[in-house]
Amino acid sequence: MTLFPETVRAVLDSSITGRAQSAGIIEINTYNIRDFSRDKHRRVDDTPYGGGFGMLMMPEPVVECHDAVMKTVPEGARAITLYMSPKGKLFTEEKARELAENYDDIIILCGHYEGVDRRALDLTVDEYVSVGDYVLTGGEIPACIIADAVSRLVDGVLADPECYKNESLGFSESEGSRLLEYPQYTRPPEFRGLRVPEILLSGNHEKIDEWRRQEAVRDTARLRPDLLLHDKNGVNGEK
Ligand code: SAM
Repeated sequence: MTLFPETVRAVLDSSITGRAQSAGIIEINTYNIRDFSRDKHRRVDDTPYGGGFGMLMMPEPVVECHDAVMKTVPEGARAITLYMSPKGKLFTEEKARELAENYDDIIILCGHYEGVDRRALDLTVDEYVSVGDYVLTGGEIPACIIADAVSRLVDGVLADPECYKNESLGFSESEGSRLLEYPQYTRPPEFRGLRVPEILLSGNHEKIDEWRRQEAVRDTARLRPDLLLHDKNGVNGEK
């Protein structure tokens, strides 16, 4: 649900999410909130009561748009409505997995201008979600982030589910912790004086796995030490 469907379509209709839609694995619909304005000039925003800067999205078009979307949700489908907002809980890979596993339909409301009349949010939204502690001009980019992160966890969207099993920020079952992905290399074997680590050319998969595990821990400690500190088990079961 957005005032700028073209922004969302431009991002999600290309590359992997575009192909997944064409293949019928996921479906991404955009609803233009402006289509639900009853105003003869199709206005969707107004000044805030009590004064203050900027314009606010009016409740009626938002709620009526949401009503129309809810009519498309099949009987018995598990649906959730998210409002993109800097006030929300920070979006994480864990949240993406929770959404992918628990919902059939994810409805995303994108705010614009100074945001949305609170009554519309109270009437339609289950959760506020933020993509970071900064303020953007609209919820369209956050909505694309969420749709992209959730879509790639849906079976069949990526060619091989192994693609996301060992990835950065995923929970490793064997480690019981969150690690970044190990460093990756492709051809050529030497580039500007930098060689691919010999172990990766050795063909010894046991040694390669061990090297990757060590490098994942090393990269996590160097780039995101907070992941190790905040992991409830510590990286190797110790704090
Ligand atoms: N006045 C609002 C406030 O202070 O909370 C900010 C409004 S912002 C300029 C316009 C819209 O962008 C919001 O309604 C929201 O949908 C979206 N937005 C901005 N920053 C965001 C963020 N960090 N995460 C998710 N959505 C965001």
